[in-house]
Amino acid sequence: MAILEVLKFPDPRLRKKCAAVKEVTPELKKFAEDMLETMYSFKGIGLAAAQVDRQIRLLVMDTRPKENGEYKLEEMTELERQVPMPFVIFNPVIVRKEGKTTYDEGCLSVPTYYETVERFNLVEVTGLDINGKPIQVTTDGLTAICVQHEIDHLDGKLFIDRLSPIKSIRIKNKIKKFGYPDPSQPQDEEELEELLADQEEHRL
Ligand SMILES: [Zn+2]
Repeated sequence: MAILEVLKFPDPRLRKKCAAVKEVTPELKKFAEDMLETMYSFKGIGLAAAQVDRQIRLLVMDTRPKENGEYKLEEMTELERQVPMPFVIFNPVIVRKEGKTTYDEGCLSVPTYYETVERFNLVEVTGLDINGKPIQVTTDGLTAICVQHEIDHLDGKLFIDRLSPIKSIRIKNKIKKFGYPDPSQPQDEEELEELLADQEEHRL
């Protein structure tokens, strides 16, 4: 197992479109496991292959809420609880989408930023599991939001592209100009509080 480097906006490699895999080889299975380890190590709940500089259609997720080292499955919806976790899917395709929902999304490739994004409330997704077996899941809740966020990565799209044009440009310019704040060196007390609060939120 290995911890992979996570690319950060504005790295142009995050904009590449990813290709479907023809077959889930043992090497790809191992790569998916490395992605999971990477995601857990950065306390993320989802990671797309594009974020670790591999342009294939693969995403990994674990949206189970955790407290004191234990999973709190009762906080998940009925549908979410039926999704195998950790969830690994090659060549994911959304075949059904319903309703609308919003969530304050974050991203390991855009650290310290959280913005409200609108997504479909329920999605049905098909693809291949970590063993190359066809799978189909129907989910809502945070798991549905996360799937849509990660599939966006496979198409070179980030959550900050889905904000109002003014907000989107403002955030992108700010990051390009100043980079990301260093959590180990807060500028002042207010910023430190903000950073600590952000760490409690979900990173997709
Ligand atoms: Zn992301």
